[in-house]
Amino acid sequence: MVSITGGSYPPALDNDLERERLALAIKDWSIANGLAVRPPPAVVGHDPRGILAVNAPVTLFPSPFPRSCFEEAKSIQTAYNELYARISQDEEFLEGLVQEVAGGDEFIANLWDVHLRVKGEGYVQPLNLGLFRSDYMVHQDGEALQIKQVEFNTIASSFGGLSAQTSKLHQYLAQTEYPLLQAAGPYASGLDLPANHSAKGLATGLAAAFAAYGPSALSHPTCVLFLVQDGERNVFDQRHLEYELQSAHGIPVFRLPFSEILSRTSIAPGLPARQLLYSLPSNPSRVFEAAVVYLRAGYGPGDYPAASAWEARYQIERSGAIACPSILTQLAGMKKVQQVLATPEPSGGVPAALRRFVAGDDGAKAYGLLRTFTNIFPMDATPAGQAARKMATDPEGCKKYVMKPQREGGGNNFYRTAIPAHLQSIPEAHWGSFILMELITPPPLENVILRNGELEQGGVICELGVYGTCLWDQKTKAIVHNEESGYLLRTKGDQSEEGGVAAGYGCMDSCSLV
Ligand code: ADP
Ligand code: MG
Ligand code: MG
Repeated sequence: MVSITGGSYPPALDNDLERERLALAIKDWSIANGLAVRPPPAVVGHDPRGILAVNAPVTLFPSPFPRSCFEEAKSIQTAYNELYARISQDEEFLEGLVQEVAGGDEFIANLWDVHLRVKGEGYVQPLNLGLFRSDYMVHQDGEALQIKQVEFNTIASSFGGLSAQTSKLHQYLAQTEYPLLQAAGPYASGLDLPANHSAKGLATGLAAAFAAYGPSALSHPTCVLFLVQDGERNVFDQRHLEYELQSAHGIPVFRLPFSEILSRTSIAPGLPARQLLYSLPSNPSRVFEAAVVYLRAGYGPGDYPAASAWEARYQIERSGAIACPSILTQLAGMKKVQQVLATPEPSGGVPAALRRFVAGDDGAKAYGLLRTFTNIFPMDATPAGQAARKMATDPEGCKKYVMKPQREGGGNNFYRTAIPAHLQSIPEAHWGSFILMELITPPPLENVILRNGELEQGGVICELGVYGTCLWDQKTKAIVHNEESGYLLRTKGDQSEEGGVAAGYGCMDSCSLV
């Protein structure tokens, strides 16, 4: 329990009727406002007609979050956007890192091969769009609280749609339900709940790319394609962005399963601009030109079960559509990149890799970014890598770390004592494809989570994500659009190592600034 404005927070919910009343208010508001997911089969059995939706797991109360940390994370986002745009523009830098991990990582090697194939014939679309999310936890060092970056996502950064709704849910409860609680106390009317425009912000980024693409030279209507996974349960999160694009910008959106790229799209034959054409399944003579392709799939090996899936990715990459992201931008999100940016010089000061991308600035930007880094070590054969290998294989030393492969989407990391066990199961020549990161240990908090209709009360850990949208030109290096685009707060039980909501570990939350 944290004490804010003189009261204990969140309030003790000792009264069963109060717990039920609050849970019911959340259940109804969530379905009425699309804070929902398709049901997990284990919860509702089967849904052959695809008509069921259930509440996204969510906290009953917004979790307290230090205001200075929140402000810092938001204010640094455009610097992060620019940093990752610059990294995406630096093929030589990425090539070096890909070579370091590709030996033990076939997926990264395959992505690089697609990039090389397209480079061989020449890219036709210089514009790239990033819908990014930088994730943090609060690190407590004595009295001082400092955000530390968990990771930077450059592909399929999700939950912007549901996150905006979660902020609205907690704002609604603060006006209606919290003041009615017996233990309401002074916080009931005094919560500071920041506005969250994540759905609008991400849609604005997509709309900026759509506008920059311009009209079709072939006189087709233009559209945005959302590449999605078959059987996606987190579909309403994506739909919120789609509806925003439609209602605020008048842009048509089509959802295309990754597995249907080759049957539904084609590259305009014989034309140098390689327009990506999409034909409606219901009426193949209705053809749209894809201005922007937004990937909510394709970030992990599971989406590439056969060689044809790699051909599909190649078709997107070589096309004239603006990719969100391109392969280079996807690779910029490798944990290896984050490690290299954070690895200090033996003499201290700003790491060389960071200076490579924020050189020319007065140094304030570099130091601002540096403050958010925690210690991350290579696992390669360099002296620093050898030292990390020693820590990672030590039965006591390993307990301070998480070891990460170059993967996205949750469920891929090795924590504490699982690290030496995993290392022993793979050839030492492949250890370099991992990075070793110090565990961030945020201050303890309590909350109540509503998940699958059950309330879970106890200690929680929060992870803040800040969205950023960035559009740039790979050739001229010009940055055309660069904005901070709202936030996400995800909360998990403090006994759980992973925090992904879609992967079933965490839940949606919002910030109550303290
Ligand atoms: P992914 O790309 O799969 O989401 P992450 O790097 O975000 O991988 O790791 C998944 C989860 O593991 C995070 O959401 C967080 O809960 C936990 N985690 C990752 N790195 C750390 C860290 N350094 N300290 C504490 N927890 C971490
Ligand atoms: Mg993550
Ligand atoms: Mg990630």
